[in-house]
Amino acid sequence: MSGTNAQALPELKLYNTLTRTKEVFTPLDPAHVRMYVCGPTVYDFAHIGNARPVIVFDLLYRLLRHLYGANHVKYVRNITDVDDKINARAAAEHPGLDLNEAIAKVTFTTEAQFHDDLEALGVLHPDVEPRATEHIAEMRQLIEKLVASGHAYVAEDHVLFSVPSMPDYGKLSNRPLDDMLAGARVDVAPYKKDAMDFVLWKPSKPGEPGWPSPAGIAVPGRPGWHIECSAMSWKHLGETFDIHGGGIDLVFPHHENEVAQSRCAFHSGLMAKVWMHNGFLQVEGEKMSKSLGNFITIRQLLADWPGPVLRLNMLKTHYRQPIDWTVKGLEESAKTLEQWFDAAAPDAYPRPAPSVLEALADDLNTPKAIAEMHALRDHAGKKALAGTLAFLGFEPGPMEAWAAARVPVLTIAAEEVEARIHERIEARRNRDWAASDRIRDELLALGVALKDNKDGTTSWEPKR
Ligand code: AMP
Ligand code: ZN
Repeated sequence: MSGTNAQALPELKLYNTLTRTKEVFTPLDPAHVRMYVCGPTVYDFAHIGNARPVIVFDLLYRLLRHLYGANHVKYVRNITDVDDKINARAAAEHPGLDLNEAIAKVTFTTEAQFHDDLEALGVLHPDVEPRATEHIAEMRQLIEKLVASGHAYVAEDHVLFSVPSMPDYGKLSNRPLDDMLAGARVDVAPYKKDAMDFVLWKPSKPGEPGWPSPAGIAVPGRPGWHIECSAMSWKHLGETFDIHGGGIDLVFPHHENEVAQSRCAFHSGLMAKVWMHNGFLQVEGEKMSKSLGNFITIRQLLADWPGPVLRLNMLKTHYRQPIDWTVKGLEESAKTLEQWFDAAAPDAYPRPAPSVLEALADDLNTPKAIAEMHALRDHAGKKALAGTLAFLGFEPGPMEAWAAARVPVLTIAAEEVEARIHERIEARRNRDWAASDRIRDELLALGVALKDNKDGTTSWEPKR
């Protein structure tokens, strides 16, 4: 535990998909807490659904660093840069280029865009951000291990994982075998020994990127999707680590197959101790999809809203619940943040409020944490509120810039405003409330908001 923090630290509890219970979190090694989260496939601007795991696990990363010490936490979030969608985009966008160069262009550009988006959202850099294409050797090694121990086999230049070779396959997703079979039967290739077997390696088709194949296969090939995360988590976190995260859609087959690969390769009972999954995000009550035309990128949202508003809007809902992303919600989030920043008082030693930490330690209960932050605003917690905002990654700068940009151009000179205020004070002195209200409304129509102060004076500001 961190020795520098005088506050009593709460006990962390996390919901584990593997056991379907909320458990007290006990790291394998408290001096070396390790977390892996599945990152994006980089072929286009990330959508707001992709931002959910990134923001949720950024919050957990911040909490772990607070509880165990920043130097005792290692967070790995990968970049998937081998994918059919990337190849298609590269070929379409850079027809003149060599495919590998075109792919590099697409992936590096997309990755840079993603990083800019995340910076605006107040997301910290993970400690390592491995790219799949830089871990092909580790993938080959894992595949060799699996073949050598009879958990995988070669067929028609593919390597397949043999699901029947693992008696407790399916524990993570806990789906009935029939369900899994129904999913697997969608593409039963003739070379599979069992319908459930999945691809670890496949031959590259002409024009596709390819690497030397493992297991004595003579033709160049490329990895299946699941093996990359087993390889990258192994390389950077070891055979067994503490937390593995991602969106709920990844539980099956992606995470189930990662568990199968890693456990069988290392003859281990465990890949990650705790498996955490965020719920899905939908937009204005509808599933987000390109065909429905409600597919929103982080970049598009950042054109209208400051990053902290998007971040709070994401954290308002508990991470395991579905989120309905709405403009109304964004407006409320903006108002809340403005109130918090107005109330917060700078502190020379900023630190998060214990009440907020306690809420977060209970399986990242952000709705409770937000309620506690409202209480800080109302009571003697204004310094703690500032420390909490900083801890949670909410920066005032983007909010101020946004508010300033929203100030309308006044269509009335300041002297004129003062003159009208004077006129209104006169009217009020004469108890002519109708005239007073009329002047207030006329000024409002010109973009000027009046505020009557307790001491009898009236101040004004441009209407927001
Ligand atoms: P992808 O780039 O599709 O592999 O997704 C990257 C991450 O975003 C994964 O952890 C997904 O589970 C997550 N994700 C994708 N779409 C959504 C969504 N609509 N809501 C929440 N998470 C999502
Ligand atoms: Zn993954």
